[in-house]
Parts: sequence; structure tokens; C-alpha cells
Amino acid sequence: MTSVRVERLRELLIERDLDALIVNGAANLRYLSGFTGSSGIALVALDGQPRFFTDFRYKEQSAVELDGAFTCEILDGELLNGLAAALAPERIGFDDATTSVAGRARLEEHAPPRTELVAAGGLIEQLRAVKDAEEIERIAAAAALVDGIYEWLVQRGFAGRREREVAVEVEHEMRMRGSSRPSFDSIVAGGLRGALPHAQVTDSPIVMGTLVTVDIGAVLDGYCSDCTRTFAVGEPTAQAREIYELVLAAQIAGLEALAPGVSGVAVDAKARAVIEDAGYGECFGHGLGHGVGLEIHEPPRLSRHASDEPLRAGNVVTVEPGIYLPGTLGVRIEDLVVLTEDGATRLSHFTKELLVVD
Ligand code: ZN
Ligand code: ZN
Repeated sequence: MTSVRVERLRELLIERDLDALIVNGAANLRYLSGFTGSSGIALVALDGQPRFFTDFRYKEQSAVELDGAFTCEILDGELLNGLAAALAPERIGFDDATTSVAGRARLEEHAPPRTELVAAGGLIEQLRAVKDAEEIERIAAAAALVDGIYEWLVQRGFAGRREREVAVEVEHEMRMRGSSRPSFDSIVAGGLRGALPHAQVTDSPIVMGTLVTVDIGAVLDGYCSDCTRTFAVGEPTAQAREIYELVLAAQIAGLEALAPGVSGVAVDAKARAVIEDAGYGECFGHGLGHGVGLEIHEPPRLSRHASDEPLRAGNVVTVEPGIYLPGTLGVRIEDLVVLTEDGATRLSHFTKELLVVD
């Protein structure tokens, strides 16, 4: 599998006229080499075996995890310095998005003369955006775990419980079911706090007659999931129902617009139009969705500011419109979806009917 990824990377290197790429960052290294540790760096050239560098602490782990395509070298001292010394005087790409100014200076200082360092961030992310069958299976399993959590959660109910208590219990239950950690800090936002898209949990109790927005994800086998549902705790007001149905209509419009060849801007626009036409355009201030994989936010994006680049089969994205009425209520509904050759398949399967729970 990994050698396929190395070959795909080499095609990108040729397109960018690079002789080699320095690869860092935990998710990029894991994707390319299988290594899951926190200290490592790889060098992939157009030919020859890809090289992996780490320090003595990861000697055993790298021997177990590293894909057979890579050679492993244990370095003393700063990895970046050792790597720089191993470079050839060629055009070498480095990740300008994650390499600090100090890191770049060290590379320049230790690289052989006439080595040309070229900013080339985002290449591995570009590969990662198109998932293979095994990755899709893992993400689907992480999504299924969260579906199960929602089933469990509605049985337990919300009324009178503190947001924090619900969030902690959810995260505990996810781990008991095999997740290594939440994909992000769980959001449990009751009543007025539902109007904050990224609400922090508080010690406030969730009260009857309000909505509660729950946004959670689980990391399973290295891959993230992400799913939001909004529940009515006790009978909802007419306004709450109306907003809920509107967000759901926008969410379905977004799902239906998803297909290979369409841009993330166009999909965002389809969902946004439903909310704008109802007069709530100002109340949907964030993008429609984001890519999900080894990281919780990764390319591609579905938003007004996304690139014009067409979406591709194998992209895994969220579709998560929301309406936030400050001081009143908020609703967000989010599914995780994989793009197929002719459309998209949902990976989140928990019901999107407005559930009235205790
Ligand atoms: Zn989410
Ligand atoms: Zn999300």
C-alpha cells in the first residue's frame, strides 16, 4: 500500500520539477511510511529507496511499523540537521506550511552547497485527500462507532444534566468502544449556547424546552470521524422546529450536490442557497464542510473560500450547515460522506429526524 503512495508522490514531484521531498508531520509520515511516533522525518527522492530518519527512542517502534519500502536511519542530535547533511545538491521540496523559519535556516545551514530548497507544502495532503478502500473502511468504522454513541446517548437523555457531564460520558464511552481518543473536544451546547458554532462545554444544566447540539467524533485505528446532531429536549417551540427543518433541507441539498467534478464552492453554494432564500443567510457564518481522515480538518474544503479544484471520488468530507440565532438557539446537522464515482455515500447513519428526548 505504502509503495503505491510513494509512487503517487513521485508523480507529484515530477509535476513540480522536484528531485526529492522532505516529509514531516505526524499524519503525513504515518500516511506515507506507517510510522506512528512523534519524532521522525522522511526523504523521498525520484529514485532510490525512500529514507526515514528518527532518533534512538523510536528505534524499536520504527523497526516494527515502518513500511518495507523505507530504509531507517537512527540519528544523534537534531533530526533536521542530520537530514540536511544527507541531502544531495538538487531541488529539494520542503513543507513550508509546517517548517518553522528556524527549521528552514537549519536546513540551509547543514545542506550541502548548491542544494536548492523549494517551498512545497501540501503535496502529501493532496494525496491524502483521495482515500483508498482501506482508509474509507476505517473512516466508516469510526463513523459507525459514533452512530452507536448517539443511540446510546438518546437512551440516557439530557434534561437536567450538565453539558460537561454529557461530554465526559460520551468521550468515556467512545474509548470503551475502542476509540483511542476523541477527534476533537466534544461539543455539547444547550439552549442559547447552541448559537455558538464552537461552544465550549459548560457546567450549565440542559433544560427542558430547549435544543441541544452535540458535535462529536472518534479516532479509530488512526482515522477520525465527525458527526453533529441537534436534539429537542422536551417539546420544541415552533421556531425551533422551523429552523431545524430548514437546516435539514440545506444539509440534504448539500449532500445531493456532492459529486466528483463539482467544486467545493459549488456544493457550499447549493446548501447555502436554501438558508439564504429563507432569509437566514447571515446566520450561517461558516463553511459547509471539510475533509476528514488522519486529521479532523484536512483538504478538501466545502466553502465559499475553497479552491476551484474539482472534488474527486475518494474524498471524504463533512456536510454541516447550521443556523445560529444569537441569544435564542442554534441548529447544526452534520454527516460524514465519501464521494463515489457517481455521487456520494453517507458514512453517518444516525437519524436526522428531530428527536424529542428527555
Ligand atoms: Zn463536527
Ligand atoms: Zn466537522
